[in-house]
Amino acid sequence: MSVILVSACLLGCPCRYDGKCCTDERVLALRNKHMLIPVCPEQLGGLPTPRNPSERRNGGVYMNDGTDVTENYRSGAAAALFLGSTLGASAAVLKSKSPSCGKGLIYDGTFTGNKTEGNGVTAEMLLESGIMVFTEDETDRLDFFLGC
Ligand code: SF4
Repeated sequence: MSVILVSACLLGCPCRYDGKCCTDERVLALRNKHMLIPVCPEQLGGLPTPRNPSERRNGGVYMNDGTDVTENYRSGAAAALFLGSTLGASAAVLKSKSPSCGKGLIYDGTFTGNKTEGNGVTAEMLLESGIMVFTEDETDRLDFFLGC
């Protein structure tokens, strides 16, 4: 059994910006084999739920009304990393395309639905710290990575 950080919204927690969740059965099924640690970096960074949507732009993160929430995103990422390190997480399964949790592809900062290459702030910090990050669409690769 491995310890895995998981975006809380994928496990059914209504922590998204719109107060909803995005439960994913593929991610939920991981609980049969692993210890899942739910984290919502945006809440950990002090943002309320519901909240305005945000996107990464020019090295920062901004709400759709222009509010700079970069520090909230950074502190939430640091808190998620702290939890992962403290609990010995060997990997993370994070929500795709999110400005916090996305890996490889995120919304491009224009609030038009367009996407661009890049990582969310938390995914980026975890990757830089050596914690492997998978999206909910890559759960089939997780067991191979973990060797189980
Ligand atoms: Fe889900 Fe991550 Fe956004 Fe929280 S920050 S709602 S866990 S995608």
